[in-house]
Amino acid sequence: MVLSESETLAMARRSRELKALGKDIISLSIGEPDYDTPQFVKDAAKLAIDENFTHYTPVAGFAELRQAVSTKFKRDNGLNYTPEQIVVSTGAKQSIANAILSLVDPGDEVLLPAPYWVSYIEMIRLAGGIPVVIYSGIEHDFKITPEQLAPHITPKTRMMIFSSPCNPTGSVYSHDELKAMAQFFQHYPDIYIISDEIYEHIRFEGKHTSIASFPEIYDRTITVNGLSKSFAMTGWRLGYIGAPKWIADACDKFQGQITSGTCSVTQRAAIAALEADPEVIGEMVKGFHHRRDLMYGLLKEIKDLQVNLPEGAFYFFPNVSAFLGKMGAGQLIQTPQELTMYLLNEFQLATVGGEAFGCNDSIRLSYAVSEVQIIESVKRLKAGLESLV
Ligand code: PMP
Ligand code: GLU
Repeated sequence: MVLSESETLAMARRSRELKALGKDIISLSIGEPDYDTPQFVKDAAKLAIDENFTHYTPVAGFAELRQAVSTKFKRDNGLNYTPEQIVVSTGAKQSIANAILSLVDPGDEVLLPAPYWVSYIEMIRLAGGIPVVIYSGIEHDFKITPEQLAPHITPKTRMMIFSSPCNPTGSVYSHDELKAMAQFFQHYPDIYIISDEIYEHIRFEGKHTSIASFPEIYDRTITVNGLSKSFAMTGWRLGYIGAPKWIADACDKFQGQITSGTCSVTQRAAIAALEADPEVIGEMVKGFHHRRDLMYGLLKEIKDLQVNLPEGAFYFFPNVSAFLGKMGAGQLIQTPQELTMYLLNEFQLATVGGEAFGCNDSIRLSYAVSEVQIIESVKRLKAGLESLV
């Protein structure tokens, strides 16, 4: 098979290249906090180097770290995972790949609510699985219901993958919506669920619910999380799962053959991060909340742009269908991807086309940038969209 390049990373690369040529690009492309990693986490890493934590680690992570993850799951999510049920990996991306490649066999079908995070579909294909995409639009806040899933279940259905808070839409499934989903899957004991909760702490309304907290499906759910977003640690590369022991064992075995344990220094820093009161990242979350409100107000002023109010993560996913089929710089712009290239080349604004997330009428805007950049970027977006004829 031919693997596609991650479009989020591709757009980030294009904007870096243009910046290097001296262009004044504002990038709303990649999803990563622009905050610094907290000082106490950096201090733990420095200490780890001085204390010579520089050797191979157990594949699934240091025992102390797996204990810290286990305690975190209990403290924040009410989930009981023993350290043996936890596998630490080189980012949540690897955690998800481990689980998919361990559980999905060629020909298996995987339910993929769309809009979905860019890499899920390629990982499913890499495993030889068949993605079954079920779409929900902005009018339903981009969330799917059990009724929508039901007609897609076949004897070959093996798994469902979703994120909440969601990348790319920022939508959050409520406790009751997740409960309905859990009750639905209770009737399908052969289907596994990957619940990607990497944006758990970046939410602005209510409290996070983990779908594994519903006993009906606990023993078939892989709960994915990591430090990239919650502690602004994208470059450190640490993600983890809590899962039934036999699935954790399979992921451990798989990871042991391809990468081994993640960086020893990062693991020591992760213990400090996970043992801290989640309130230590409160200021960052407040900052994202404020930026969301700012950007929402500005986006609402763009005529014909449909935008909803995301409850979490740091993305807007506005519907741009009113602007497709128009001309810009002498070119017909038919797709979100073409629109993003137009905005990049003519208005120095980097965004990501919805196609990468299984959606043909939206673009993704990451607001993990300063308020000044938010204001300027929406000005550019407005000018770009209004220039189309
Ligand atoms: N899942 C989602 C929904 C994400 O947005 C990201 C961000 N890259 C990841 C997983 C992977 O994160 P990590 O940096 O931990 O690999
Ligand atoms: N999660 C980020 C994003 O969606 C990182 C990019 C990636 O890993 O593909 O932009």
